Parts: sequence; structure tokens; C-alpha cells
Amino acid sequence: MSLRKAFKKFYNEYTEWFREKSPTDLAISGLKLAEEAGEVAEAVIAFAGASKNKIRKLLRKGQTPRDAVKEELGDVIVVCLNIATLCNIEHDDLFESAAIKAKRRTEEIRQGVR
Ligand SMILES: [Mg+2]
Repeated sequence: MSLRKAFKKFYNEYTEWFREKSPTDLAISGLKLAEEAGEVAEAVIAFAGASKNKIRKLLRKGQTPRDAVKEELGDVIVVCLNIATLCNIEHDDLFESAAIKAKRRTEEIRQGVR
């Protein structure tokens, strides 16, 4: 299933949740992405064992740090796909853009430019 189809299925099944998580205003979506990225960072810090306070906070919510990383990465993906949709960017093109950049940087490393 393509990313676009998976996203559309997700949206159709969870429209109310999605609207709350992914506002249609592009600027607010950018802020939402920053918020979710921060939540990923907190979860990763807990998963790495670098903060006992964050681990305790998650455990009080009934989550392991790994569960939290998984959940927050999912939130980031949803917000990213929503932003791509709002910008009329094909979801599958996101990986192509990343691959083009990785290819260029890999070639630079091999040539000793980086
Ligand atoms: Mg979140």
C-alpha cells in the first residue's frame, strides 16, 4: 500500500482524532510538528535511560519508554504526511527527495569533499 493510500485510510477511519492532531492550517501544523518532535525527543531520552524522571512519568501513565517512542514517532509521521498533503506534495516523493540528498552526500564523502 502506498503512503498516500495508507494515509487516506487512516484519515477516513480516525477523522475526529486526525482533525485534532493535524490542523488544516499549515502554520499551526508546523507548530504541531515541533511539539511532536519534542515529544519524540523526550521519549528517546527516557528510552536511552538518560532521565529517570521521564521514565517515572511514562510508567505512571502505564507506558514503557519504548511504547512512548513508538507512539510519538507515529504522531510525527501523521503530522508530516498532513503537512505534505497541505503542500500538495506526494507522500512517496518524500523518500525520493531524501534518497537524492543522501546520494549526493554519499558521493561527497567518497570524494573527500565532506
Ligand atoms: Mg504526541
